[in-house]
Amino acid sequence: MQSSFSPSDRASARASSHATSRARTERSPSASRPERPASPAKKTRSALPVQPHLRNSPQKNGRGGRVKQFIDPSRFIHEAKPVALEEYVPENRFEDFKVHKRIIANLLAKGYETPTPIQDQTIQYVLEGKDVVGIANTGTGKTAAFSVPLIHDLVTHMDRKMLVMAPTRELAQQIVEEMLSFSKGCNLKIALLIGGASMNLQLKALRAMPRIVVGTPGRIKDHIGQGSLDLSRFDRVVLDEVDRMLDMGFIRDITSILSKTNPRRQSLFFSATMEPEIEALIGKFSHDPVTVSTRVGTTADTVTQNVVWYSTPTEKIEKLHDILIDGSCTKVIIFDDTKRLVERLCKELDARGFKVDRIHGNKSQAQRSRAITRLKSGEITILVATDVAARGIDVSDVTHVINYSQPTTYDDYVHRIGRTGRAGKVGLALTFLQK
Ligand code: AMP
Repeated sequence: MQSSFSPSDRASARASSHATSRARTERSPSASRPERPASPAKKTRSALPVQPHLRNSPQKNGRGGRVKQFIDPSRFIHEAKPVALEEYVPENRFEDFKVHKRIIANLLAKGYETPTPIQDQTIQYVLEGKDVVGIANTGTGKTAAFSVPLIHDLVTHMDRKMLVMAPTRELAQQIVEEMLSFSKGCNLKIALLIGGASMNLQLKALRAMPRIVVGTPGRIKDHIGQGSLDLSRFDRVVLDEVDRMLDMGFIRDITSILSKTNPRRQSLFFSATMEPEIEALIGKFSHDPVTVSTRVGTTADTVTQNVVWYSTPTEKIEKLHDILIDGSCTKVIIFDDTKRLVERLCKELDARGFKVDRIHGNKSQAQRSRAITRLKSGEITILVATDVAARGIDVSDVTHVINYSQPTTYDDYVHRIGRTGRAGKVGLALTFLQK
C-alpha cells in the first residue's frame, strides 16, 4: 500500500469535480438508461451565501429524528491536499518480526509485501507485550497492526485469549475476515458477536471455546449479561476506532466490558483522534502505554469536497444522474436520511439502469454484507445507505461519497466522507443542498 498520490488519482478527482458542473440533460425521471450527456458544462454554484431559511431554523430529520444542525455550506467545499506525498519507507519487513512463519506466509500470500506505517511501528511493541495507543487514519492497516502480533501471541501461548471491540457490525465482521486469513492453518477459533445476527449461532460459537472474540460492545455486553461469555481469562484486549465507539455512545458498555477482562491484560487502543474522554478511558484501562502516531492530516483533508445546488426534486435526481454517468464514478456511496428514502432512491437508480444496492436498518446483517461485497467486487457501482448502516464500511477505492441529504451534524459529515480518500488516495465528496 503506497501513501503517495498517483497521477490517475488526481485525474480522477479532477474529472469527478467536473461532473458536478455538467449541464443537466432533459429526461423523464425513470425512463432513461445511464449515458453520457451530449452537451458539456454549465457551472453549478458553489459557496453561496448562507441560505436564509436554514440560518435560524434547524430542520427535523424525517419523523421525529435528530434535529439537523445548521452547517455552513462553505464547510462542504474543500480541495484535497496532497498529504503524505513522500513514499513511506518501512524500517521492517514482515519477515524481520519474530512472528510465527505460518502467519508471515499468510500475509505474503494475501499480497501484503511491506508493512504500512502503523504496522511497521506497532508490531514490535505489541510483541514485547506493551500496551499501545495507535493514532492512525482509518484504512491504513490497523487490523494487521494488532492482529499479526496478537495472533502470534495466541499461537505461542495456549492459555491466552483475545477480545476485540469495534464500533460497527461491518467493521467487526471485516476484522474477523482479516484475522481468519492471517491465522489460516493456526487452528484458532474466532467468535463474531454482533447485533442483527443469530444469537443461537453465536451461542454455539461460544460453546466451542474460541480463543478470539470480536464484536460490537452492545452484543458483547448482552452475552456477558446472559452468562454466555466469561471474559475473566481474556488477557489481550483491542479497542478499534475508539473515537467512533465513543461517538456512538458506547462508553458505559466499553467500561463495563473492560472491567470484566483479566486485570493482567495487554491493551491496545486505536483511534483516528485523541480527545479527553478517550485519554481518560485509556488512562483507566492501560498500563504505561506507548503511543504510536502515524496520522497524516484529518480524513477530510484527503477528500475534494463540493456542493450541488438544486431547486426541485426532479432537478435533484437529474443532477445525481449526471454525476453518476461520469466514467470516474466506479465505487460510489450515496447517503440518504431514512430507510424509506434509501429504498426509493435505490429503486429509481435501478430503473435508470445503474448497478445499485442498498443498506439500512431494515436489512439483515447477511443482506448488508452481501451488498458491501457486491460493491467491493465491482458487481455494483453504487451503494445507497443510511448513516448508521454505513458506519464502518471498509471498501477500498471508494471514488465518491454523495450526500443526497445533508448530514445531521458536521461529525456525521466527516464520518460519511471518510469512506473515500483512504490510504493516500484522493476521494470526492458531493453534498446536495436545496437552493
Ligand atoms: P485496515 O485499516 O486494517 O482496515 O486496512 C485497510 C486496507 O489496507 C485493507 O483493505 C487491507 O487489506 C489493506 N492492507 C492492510 N495492510 C496492508 C499491507 N501491509 N499491504 C497491503 N495492503 C494492506
